[in-house]
Amino acid sequence: MQETPSTCPYCGVGCGVIIESTGSQITGVRGDPNHPANFGRLCTKGSTLHLTATSTITLQTRLLQPQHRAQRGDKPQPLPWDAALAMAADRFASTVTQHGPDAVGFYVSGQLLTEDYYVFNKLAKGLIATNNIDTNSRLCMSSAVAGYKQTLGADAPPACYDDVHHAQCLFIVGSNAAWAHPVLFRRIEDARAANPGMKVIVADPRRTDTAGMADLFLPIQPGSDVMLFNGMLHLMLWEGWVDASYIAAHTTGFDALKALVRDATPERVAQVCGISVADLTTAAQWFATGATGDPQRRKATLSLYCQGLNQSSSGTAKNAALINLHLATGQIGKPGAGPFSLTGQPNAMGGREVGGLANLLSAHRDLANPAHRAEVAALWGVADVPSQPGKTAVEMFQAAADGEIKALWIACTNPAQSMPDQATVRRALQRAEFVVVQEAFATAETCAYADLLLPATTWGEKTGTVTNSERRISRVRSAVPAPGQARHDWAIAVQFAHQLEARLRPGQPTLFPYATDHADAGAEAVWNEHRASTRGRDLDITGLSWETLESQGPQQWPFAADAATGKARLYEDGIFPTTDGRARFAAHAWQPTAEPRESRYPFSLTTGRLRDQWHGMTRTGTLGRLFGHVAEPSVQLHPQDMERRGLHNGDLVHVTSKRGSIVVPVQADATLGLSQAFMAMHWGSEFLSGSSSTGERLAGVNALTTSVFCPTSKQPELKHAAVKVLKA
Ligand code: SF4
Repeated sequence: MQETPSTCPYCGVGCGVIIESTGSQITGVRGDPNHPANFGRLCTKGSTLHLTATSTITLQTRLLQPQHRAQRGDKPQPLPWDAALAMAADRFASTVTQHGPDAVGFYVSGQLLTEDYYVFNKLAKGLIATNNIDTNSRLCMSSAVAGYKQTLGADAPPACYDDVHHAQCLFIVGSNAAWAHPVLFRRIEDARAANPGMKVIVADPRRTDTAGMADLFLPIQPGSDVMLFNGMLHLMLWEGWVDASYIAAHTTGFDALKALVRDATPERVAQVCGISVADLTTAAQWFATGATGDPQRRKATLSLYCQGLNQSSSGTAKNAALINLHLATGQIGKPGAGPFSLTGQPNAMGGREVGGLANLLSAHRDLANPAHRAEVAALWGVADVPSQPGKTAVEMFQAAADGEIKALWIACTNPAQSMPDQATVRRALQRAEFVVVQEAFATAETCAYADLLLPATTWGEKTGTVTNSERRISRVRSAVPAPGQARHDWAIAVQFAHQLEARLRPGQPTLFPYATDHADAGAEAVWNEHRASTRGRDLDITGLSWETLESQGPQQWPFAADAATGKARLYEDGIFPTTDGRARFAAHAWQPTAEPRESRYPFSLTTGRLRDQWHGMTRTGTLGRLFGHVAEPSVQLHPQDMERRGLHNGDLVHVTSKRGSIVVPVQADATLGLSQAFMAMHWGSEFLSGSSSTGERLAGVNALTTSVFCPTSKQPELKHAAVKVLKA
């Protein structure tokens, strides 16, 4: 039996695993006791990885060879790799030649490895000269990125998992960590058991399992987070709980924020958020003082937050308003203190590091900065990088639906289920003239729209690196060979790039000199190019070779050439990566949700994860035991709302928004507030029948959600839609 250290491919905790295998068969998985993210622990999803990898359904649903559809709706037919790549290159080259580079778009994934991401970014921005590359990380972390940059100056989570053990007050907001980040949640439980004085505040519209451990639960109305944070600051100022010396020494912009929060009186905040003034006051006091109640004996407060803040039409404001609280109280840059965004996907961080978003460039460089564009062009050996920002996720599919983007390349993600406003996404996939889907699983809804399907490797087969929520880079290693004709994502992108170069810049040396026939060497060459691009940047990893990762294990960035180790936490010196070295307060007034509930749509629908399922269930949905926790989809309502409508558990109901409707059983759930509804995000068309407002068949809860997005981060409001619920 062979044992291969790697990582879990699910959430951003980034747990280390040991994969057991015999020949080409994965036989087991266990937590890696030496990995600092989990020290051997795994949750239900992670500990069943070997079963999902080898289940009969998985083996039947893997894509194992390139396939082509002569006509949309036809059964796809196999074709050789060379022919498939030549076809893709012909179609992309002719589209670029006839309509310009911005007529093509790449939609990739926070589940890709950093090396995959790097090559796709260089392919779009360096070779084709379009910034039309975005990723499902736009649906996940882009508000966190924008919030960090707006306030702290860089997209760098300042805290680390170990801070959980040093915090005296934990403020968990917009995160059901007990289900979405289970191994981190175990750590929180351990920290609390070791420190009975620790106070936990949870703010969430639902009384989740995470809220079950709270000393103070704030059942806020959906979308009222900014009002809550501004109200807490109002009280901190009134009571003298802010840290005036920290504000004076390390920040700018406090006066404007002070003026803004003057109106966030406790009474108004209590009314908008739906909580009591007493609870608001307790939250403000615990946060500011680290639960001591006394600013002279201030202890550490750590905030943990996730999609409840990010997936919002005011996502950047929510992130920034929370970070304001840390800056105003000096709760940052010391053990146990700081704002700490929990990454949804396993490598949304790595994607950000290589600049794999439509508005970013390699190594946290900005597209809008001419010097940054020149640096990246020089690194890649191209004349320039286009300055026009690319289309972000929602914009890209809207542009395809409008006929502006004509060729789409989708890798390792399933927009026909996961994007909001499914009707528009499906129109985009139908209207696009050429759609390539690079995937491991044929069951992904998006495969039905592909003209060309390219089989990709997946967990247990891939090699490269990922970065978890705490900036820790881990090696991902292959335990078994690629099945069938599947190839690694980065290698497919490189081979396509070579074909495209022959058509767009014949006779010139390749921009992609990586050996695709030696997976480890090729991926390491990509990694080394990425490393070089970070020199002198906030995430400098020039000191972190694959050899170092091999000998010293997973490491946090930054890890510069002259460093012996990475940095556990940032800003301990109070100096921030801004032009004047000071953090910036951001003054954001509260805005209601994009689609407040009203008489025709009287419920606030929120969405979220289940404990034992992952995304569109292409992997976790293959294993019966993972349905033991929740067996089937449902919409949950407060028991009083059900009674008022004459509904009983299991009744079928139509849940309808302005965009679509689904039919689903209803279940009573007293963890919700009145006039609220909740649905899990995972169930696709196999489990849920739905239709658009014009009658088209759609999959899952995103038939209902809105694509309205935050104007700064462009992250859509997947967390809230106004719906009506009627008996079917
Ligand atoms: Fe995998 Fe996340 Fe579970 Fe860890 S907590 S085993 S990374 S799903």
